[in-house]
Amino acid sequence: MSTVDAFPLIRSDLAGLSIPELAKQFGTPAYFYDSASILERIADLRAFDTIRYAQKAASNLAILDLVRREGVLVDAVSAGEIQRALAAGYTAEGHPHPIVYTADIFDHEALDLVVEHGIHVNCGSPTMIDQLGERAPGRDITLRINPGFGHGHSQKTNTGGEHSKHGIWHEQLADCLLRADRHGLQVTGLHMHIGSGTDLEHLSQVCGAMERCAMEVGRTIKTVSAGGGLPIPYTADQSTVDLAAYYRLWHESRQRLAAEFGHPIELEIEPGRYLVAESGYLLTEIRAIKKMKDHLFYLVDAGFNNLARPILYGSYHPMSIAYAEDIPRQMNMQEVVVGGPLCESGDIFTQEEGGFVCKRELPVAAVGDFLLLERAGAYGYVMSSNYNSKPMVAEILLHQGKAHLIRERQSFEDLVRGELIPDLG
Ligand SMILES: *Cc1c(COP(=O)(O)O)cnc(C)c1O
Repeated sequence: MSTVDAFPLIRSDLAGLSIPELAKQFGTPAYFYDSASILERIADLRAFDTIRYAQKAASNLAILDLVRREGVLVDAVSAGEIQRALAAGYTAEGHPHPIVYTADIFDHEALDLVVEHGIHVNCGSPTMIDQLGERAPGRDITLRINPGFGHGHSQKTNTGGEHSKHGIWHEQLADCLLRADRHGLQVTGLHMHIGSGTDLEHLSQVCGAMERCAMEVGRTIKTVSAGGGLPIPYTADQSTVDLAAYYRLWHESRQRLAAEFGHPIELEIEPGRYLVAESGYLLTEIRAIKKMKDHLFYLVDAGFNNLARPILYGSYHPMSIAYAEDIPRQMNMQEVVVGGPLCESGDIFTQEEGGFVCKRELPVAAVGDFLLLERAGAYGYVMSSNYNSKPMVAEILLHQGKAHLIRERQSFEDLVRGELIPDLG
């Protein structure tokens, strides 16, 4: 385990491209993703047989296409995510399953899609087994098990234990095997995902729980999925995960299962945050600077409609300043509160869980300079909204020295698309 280098407080470029130039070309706010970072994170996980990207972390088609080219498969948690995977070039069927639908329910649309296209289903509730079995008997399925414990960076991202709605309760496994039998469904794999942004200690406990459940199912098991949840450092004093040690735990566990069952067991990992968080930057422009008694505010043109993690979880994002003009100046620091443009007092990027406003040491900057919210690639754009009638922003992929627009900023027409004024006479 190693701690990370301090994050830079001043930047002039992203992946070698000038920040003021990027701002001029694409406008602000905008999300930028450095493809090199995504590719490095994929490379970190190559020991696992299958890397399955949990696309809900950042599901732009261009990002799905990028990871697909690297042989990374994909997880879908909704009908829309299945459609995205298909649109990005994933095939419905194959081995290992290119797309896996993992959820706790089927809405009607998702059930129709998985039946029609033959998409593999990872069932997170006993009901799903019956619903799939009635429409598509004879299929292979995997089960998402709630091992009875969980852990996340926030209570809201803990996906195990009795207060979680996720997965099949571990003590109901026998009942679920009977249900599967009734429909001729074969349980070929198990999956556990105990939370997002957890730590290695908690993740490691999953191996033992997985082994116990796999033994209970028996020889039909061919794959085990370690789920996602790998943390990334958001502050310089947080450390990176020891992936080699984590892999070793899972590898030993699957070898014991392979010995027991007499056939190889494929090992999957299902990261979302880990692959994309560090690649992403939300570029904003400082539009006003004002003082409220002892608090100095940098007000930028992005708000929680663009990046919701701080208001949702009190999440910390590293921040840096990019000067609008490239004149050398001395870096003086000051304590500031960073907020956005929305008409809601919670629209503050420097807040802790519970909504407590805090200050951040940042370089002295002026209106017109840029502020980057960093490590914003995961659960950033995808959680954005049109609140306050703000358009969804552009997304740009920085790849091999070039900036590619991968999503256009919304226009006013996009904003009101689908809205109808009825003839009220
Ligand atoms: C969200 C999710 C993941 C990814 O979680 P991260 O913490 O982003 O790695 C993996 N699997 C499932 C089923 C998920 O819902």
